[in-house]
Amino acid sequence: MSTSETTTHDRGPCPCGNGTIIQHVTTQDNPWSSADSSYSIDCEECRNKWHRENEAPFFVLRSSETEHIAARQQEGAAYAAFDALSERLIADYFLSFPAKNKAREHAEMERLNLTSMTYRQYLAHRRSEESVASACDGRRNIDWILDQAAACGMQSKAAELLDRYEASKKLSSEAARRIERWRIA
Ligand SMILES: [Zn+2]
Repeated sequence: MSTSETTTHDRGPCPCGNGTIIQHVTTQDNPWSSADSSYSIDCEECRNKWHRENEAPFFVLRSSETEHIAARQQEGAAYAAFDALSERLIADYFLSFPAKNKAREHAEMERLNLTSMTYRQYLAHRRSEESVASACDGRRNIDWILDQAAACGMQSKAAELLDRYEASKKLSSEAARRIERWRIA
């Protein structure tokens, strides 16, 4: 049977200044367990407005995250739309690629800088029934993707999807910078 002891420590004021951040340290009475530490906010207002994720050394203001969460969703949707076109262009290219052999396909992907997979990874990828195109990421060679799109009359569509993706990425990183954090002292 083991026993534990929890001590609490005052770690400075809460964000609104009317309460305190409290650290709870639990020490097990045995040599193999390390001390567990958690934090709570002793303030009715701040306890609801702020939260701490995992072991982060700070609390986050919930309301300041809302915009970022929405922006990330927009970014995900814009990426999916660009990626669907990009994957189709890549798939078409490799359909008409003369060598139906995995080593040549992989060499071509590397020549075009479309994949980060090694040849071994590519073989494993194909063995698990994955497509040629899903081994590639069109964002690695945007110029080539736009050229492929131009060759089938889809250049403006590709450029539009790419612009939307770039703009959404920018908005999302701006929103990330507006997330308010309260560092635990
Ligand atoms: Zn407070």
